[in-house]
Amino acid sequence: MSILVTGGAGYIGSHMVWELLDAGHEVVVLDRLSTGFQWALAPGAKFYRGDIGDRHVLDEIILTHRISAIIHFAGSVIVPESVSDPLSYYDNNTAKSRTLIAAAVEGGVKHFVFSSTAAVYGTHEDMKPVRETARLKPESPYGTSKLMTEMMLKDAAVAHDFNYTVLRYFNVAGADPSLRTGQSTRGATHLIKVACEAALGKRPGIDVFGVDYPTLDGTCIRDYIHVSDLAAVHLLALERMQSGGKSIVANCGYGHGFSVLEVLNRVKSITGNDFPVRFAPRRSGDAVSVVADSTIAHSEFNWIPKYDDLSLILKTALSWEEQLSSREVDLSVS
Ligand code: UDP
Repeated sequence: MSILVTGGAGYIGSHMVWELLDAGHEVVVLDRLSTGFQWALAPGAKFYRGDIGDRHVLDEIILTHRISAIIHFAGSVIVPESVSDPLSYYDNNTAKSRTLIAAAVEGGVKHFVFSSTAAVYGTHEDMKPVRETARLKPESPYGTSKLMTEMMLKDAAVAHDFNYTVLRYFNVAGADPSLRTGQSTRGATHLIKVACEAALGKRPGIDVFGVDYPTLDGTCIRDYIHVSDLAAVHLLALERMQSGGKSIVANCGYGHGFSVLEVLNRVKSITGNDFPVRFAPRRSGDAVSVVADSTIAHSEFNWIPKYDDLSLILKTALSWEEQLSSREVDLSVS
């Protein structure tokens, strides 16, 4: 029996593949390499280059490899891009997920772990850590596209012999501490990746999108979780389902947030590089403060984070960014 990882050549997916192989699982990856890289794949994984919307390839993989579980990462993840191009988000994140869920149900796959997002919550006025039972009010097509897939999973699990875990990620950052993989995205827009690139001189500086939010320093607050801690949650969630655990939704974050300026100042102090920071207008789709209450992940999965330390997250991200410079040639080709 093998585990199918969609998007396994991408940032979080490639960490997951290592996590699964380290735990002794057989892994099959399906990735179309639109943003991921084949070199990011752990050598022990079987690889199919293809699209999760391609039912033919899904059926072939599920049958050939006797897939027992699917961990579904493939999708589009940039909030502002989803605002400007919503229909591609509903295609990639919603319509194609429907195809994948149908293939899983009809192919007899019993367990499904889905990469969802804190963007399903939108802004909560009290700015307290958010629980899974909070009102769901996405403020971007990205959040809505993920929420719709959550709904499909819920209904499918009622109708079919199939269970799922929805993991709502907060802000994922950092790299594998052994630097076997990391975030390699071209044209990155996420704060920590952009800040590392600026600190290493790969960009002239960084814009801060909005300094007039109702927070202490006026910039948005996010709960940054180390990618290896996040991969570990998936494995625990899978093991729980394999031993009879029911379908569940769980937040993945540390329960405390940092403002944009706090992150940038920490990157500066770690690297000693005082790169230029420009105050810019707000970015559409941004919520003020997004911090997790991850009680369910702790209690249901016995999850104990190992890397809950902003400096450590930033140091692993910076080390990966440095290593990536030596792969720059590879980055120009898929
Ligand atoms: N951000 C910023 N400058 C950048 C990238 C991001 O000020 O170059 C801010 C962004 O407006 C948000 C926070 O950093 O308030 C986190 O954004 P990111 O894109 O990393 O993740 P998101 O929370 O949108 O998923």
